[in-house]
Amino acid sequence: MRITRIETRIVEIPVKAPYVFSHGTLRVFSNVLVWIHTDEGITGVGESSFVPGGGVSEETPESTKPMIDRYLAPQVVGEDPFDIERIHRKMDSAVPRNLIAKCGIDLALWDLMGKAVRQPACTLLGGIVDSRILCTYTLSIDTPERMAEQASLRKSQRYKTLVVKIGPDPETDIQRLKLVREAVGDDVNLRLDANEAYWPDQAIGIIRRMEKYHPEFVEEPVKRWDLDGMAKVARMVGTPISSDESNTSLDSVLQIIRKRAAGIINIKISKNGGLYRSKKIAAVAEAAGIPCIVGGANTYEIGRQACRHFAVSTAQAQMGMGSEGCAPASQSKIDDVTTRVLAYEDVTAGNGYVGLMEGPGLGVEIDAEKVRKYAAVSS
Ligand SMILES: [Mg+2]
Repeated sequence: MRITRIETRIVEIPVKAPYVFSHGTLRVFSNVLVWIHTDEGITGVGESSFVPGGGVSEETPESTKPMIDRYLAPQVVGEDPFDIERIHRKMDSAVPRNLIAKCGIDLALWDLMGKAVRQPACTLLGGIVDSRILCTYTLSIDTPERMAEQASLRKSQRYKTLVVKIGPDPETDIQRLKLVREAVGDDVNLRLDANEAYWPDQAIGIIRRMEKYHPEFVEEPVKRWDLDGMAKVARMVGTPISSDESNTSLDSVLQIIRKRAAGIINIKISKNGGLYRSKKIAAVAEAAGIPCIVGGANTYEIGRQACRHFAVSTAQAQMGMGSEGCAPASQSKIDDVTTRVLAYEDVTAGNGYVGLMEGPGLGVEIDAEKVRKYAAVSS
């Protein structure tokens, strides 16, 4: 089987309410859908997902579409879709980094391979370790009172872990955590995500004051490039530290491990370059004895299903820690591009857990009408 053509389209779907975190405010999902066609008539679909204007990545939908069309697609067309290591090597030779663009192609390849052998992608990724995935919900930054209300609602929906976004104002952050903890009691895990908002000594002081509310861990407390600063924070507080923005490629994960800057690695399929590269990162984390979580990245259901295939097939991501990337999106959007999605009710029905939606490949079916409806004008 040979790849004959790659097609891309930017699709924009608004969120129901603005979603605030320390980098900025999210108002619309804007992702690049990627279709890979073959000479056997089988097509795989993938997704490059972003936080538009959110300060998380150098890549944007508008830079990624031509990156794939003009620079990556010529490396992939003509190849056998099962030669995935070779395809990644060719893409890396042509273009360094640009991992979100490469993720779109990688996901489409796994969808394509699964469809070709009529198996779910997880079967090709190592099979199922545990078919149940613990879900987390991330609370948008708001007043402490409104965040506490949201937390109660999500607890009533059976979420067992909530992520409290913090960052803009340390004193209010402490109040946010206090009210959320009071709202949910002690039987819900609370993890904190500062999205790089603090400087190291400030982070140490704030985290120490937060520890009486028993956070599970604190994610990316300082600037992503300051691994020495993050290591200092990790040494000086009793709460585990997780990396997120600071890990993208394999080499960055190795640096984090060498410097002991984090005790948890947040793998996001998109920023880490797709499923194949994420598997390699999980293997490095396994060698270091570090658990992984599967973060969310404003993906449509294509990317969420990819996260689920990764989670169920990866022991290092199944260490009892919930994953936002596998759960229904916390940033509630008005629609999606697939015919089926997992919803908050599925989390409730599963008592805080979800499973894979079944089907070959990634197990999603694209709704062509919705793609047309939400296609960006520039796409
Ligand atoms: Mg994060």
